[in-house]
Amino acid sequence: MLIGLTKRMLFETDKRLLWKLVWNMGIKGIRSVQKHKKRLKKGEFFPPYLYISIINSCNLRCQGCWVDVDHKQQKIDVPAMNRMITTAKKMGNSFFGLLGGEPFMHKELFDVLEAHPDAYFQVFTNGHFITDEVAKRLRKCGNVTVLVSVEGSEIVSDTRRGKEGVYSATMKGIENCLKNKVMTGVCTSLCQSNFDELLTEKWVDNLIEMGVLYTWFHIYRPVGPDSNPDLALTPQQQRVARQFVVDMRCKKPIIFIDAYYDADGHALCPAATGFTHHINPWGDVEPCPIIQFAKESIHDERPLDQVFNESEYLRDFRKTAAEHTRGCIVLERPDLIESLADRHGAKDSTARKKALAELQAAAAHSSQYAPGSEPIPEKSWAYRLAKKFAYHDYGVYDEHFKEENWIDPNDNPREPGESELVQLG
Ligand code: SF4
Repeated sequence: MLIGLTKRMLFETDKRLLWKLVWNMGIKGIRSVQKHKKRLKKGEFFPPYLYISIINSCNLRCQGCWVDVDHKQQKIDVPAMNRMITTAKKMGNSFFGLLGGEPFMHKELFDVLEAHPDAYFQVFTNGHFITDEVAKRLRKCGNVTVLVSVEGSEIVSDTRRGKEGVYSATMKGIENCLKNKVMTGVCTSLCQSNFDELLTEKWVDNLIEMGVLYTWFHIYRPVGPDSNPDLALTPQQQRVARQFVVDMRCKKPIIFIDAYYDADGHALCPAATGFTHHINPWGDVEPCPIIQFAKESIHDERPLDQVFNESEYLRDFRKTAAEHTRGCIVLERPDLIESLADRHGAKDSTARKKALAELQAAAAHSSQYAPGSEPIPEKSWAYRLAKKFAYHDYGVYDEHFKEENWIDPNDNPREPGESELVQLG
């Protein structure tokens, strides 16, 4: 598998882009994680990877989306983006995730990408705005990878994403990227309607044949204004997905990304470990994209490093999350997010101003943490090594996690609509 992947990297990519990926994202990315670990030891904090939602607008209306895509357009302007990225670079960061809405609807996106040739950007996109011309410009930048979401075959994809023709426009965007040798990944939010079709060797082979370099199977999370719990995977399906990824990593010449397990297969939450936090299009600093409550903003007078380091709200989030589960606290214990926001007077950071009501109406769901089942460790030595070194829990669960605080969401679901603060732990 490694030989096949190395061959693909060497023969299918533009060497300048490959070098940018290896240096800016790989080597400098690993260095930024080491700095994060050192900061944690000193009791300081700055996340080594920032998710930045640069705009709320989108041309699609996907099922289960939590972004206020129908509201007046809001974007982070170029000076604010540059300030934020420059501060993060001073802290040792080099790798940034740009989300939306649809990031390519941000007219100044390229101004930001071009202003930071020493950083690396991963743009999460539906691919619809990636024309041949856009792809050429991306190649010229060199410091960008696009991660295009594909949610299933034409029918499934168009249903999940709210209109006809979505699938073909997405595939066209991918084609333009690949034709121009842009580093391209494909991600899928696994749910009931695409699980059997996309979690297959056939789909992975298809991606490899197309020239896609990496893939990422997210798990659909029923949150936000139009959450659809019927689409959520069962714990058994989540285990099947984990096993599939571990097996395919040893078999297929394509990179598999995942964010929820360490080398030994123990679940983790990247926001609880402090690996990442999220900035929304209004500049609010949130624990992660689906926790839409904030205390601080990038538009504060204080520099961003100070904002992160001094945030009691984010510190309490990380502690609360790590104390109660190795999985996703939002899914398992929405009540704890509600009380956290209440404790800190964190404001609803959505435009729709219904985040609290949505949280109160949310039932508890299972997540990547499944106590009682054997963890599924990495089999590939390359992934094991990479995770051992750079992607693990940084000791936060040793410090905080107590198994007795974990409540099986299936045994103890909070009734949807229950509105008072409930302390289950
Ligand atoms: S809180 Fe849940 S959705 Fe957010 S980063 Fe953690 S596991 Fe992921």
